[in-house]
Amino acid sequence: MRRLFPVLPVLPVLSVLALLSACREKPQPPQEFDGTAAFQYIQTQVGFGPRVPGTDAHERMGDWLDSLLRQRADTVIVQSWNHVTKAKETLPLRNFIARFNPAAEKRLLFLAHWDSRPVADGPRSQDSSRAVVGANDGGSGVALLLGVADVLQRSPPSIGVDLLFVDGEDYGDFTNAPEDVLIGSRYYAAHQLPGPKPLYAVLFDLVADKDLQLYQEGNSLVGAPEVVELVWATAKDLGYSGHFIASPRHTLIDDHLELQKVGIRAIDVVDFDYPAWHTTEDTIDKVSAASLQIVGDVAVALVRRE
Ligand SMILES: [Zn+2]
Repeated sequence: MRRLFPVLPVLPVLSVLALLSACREKPQPPQEFDGTAAFQYIQTQVGFGPRVPGTDAHERMGDWLDSLLRQRADTVIVQSWNHVTKAKETLPLRNFIARFNPAAEKRLLFLAHWDSRPVADGPRSQDSSRAVVGANDGGSGVALLLGVADVLQRSPPSIGVDLLFVDGEDYGDFTNAPEDVLIGSRYYAAHQLPGPKPLYAVLFDLVADKDLQLYQEGNSLVGAPEVVELVWATAKDLGYSGHFIASPRHTLIDDHLELQKVGIRAIDVVDFDYPAWHTTEDTIDKVSAASLQIVGDVAVALVRRE
């Protein structure tokens, strides 16, 4: 993803209010989501090395994801295609769609990207010649969705749930080669599954930072404000308003925009205050099971409340 506008200043008074309201809330006990197990999914991904399209690590990661999803979901659909980049490279890409309760009319869509960025060219990068390991960038969203898949396998949802793992989100240059980023979400939007559209969609990325601060994202507030409201209210009900902070901060170009373009009410749940973003420092020591637990509890609560 890329930040579109400069950081909006957050008024200190709002932060204080958020903290006060967090203190008053009572956390609720049921935790179907297993943050520790989800953390293991980040470790496995990091173990493949950077999952850059066109590399062995990317292919092995895709095969691993495919086999895990087949063990958990009712149906797995693989969208497989070749993408030719602006520089005329051919990349074999795959989107995976794990469907639970595939016949249900009422559905939710959760998505994350599973590829890693080929160049560590973030603003704080010390070495842009290397690829991003992506413990948080890519790794955390995939781990979150796999943790949700475990929950839904153990206790099937009453509604339909689709977990979409998009490829090629982070390959190219967001400014100079926009056709080489958000590739998988654009492909999905152009090749939607038959049947009703989801009620809404939530994109998860950068959701495992040890210092978890999820502000509301600008393009989500423009395209699907009622979904932002629902997700942050759900987090508050669970006692998580200290982490899901109900005020806007960054505005991002990300996969949710490709879904919004085809009429899906899609939002981005993302902690963009992550110093290791697009650096070689986006490693396992920066992320935690506790953060995955928080976001995972919210994701599962969204399914259970419908
Ligand atoms: Zn990225």
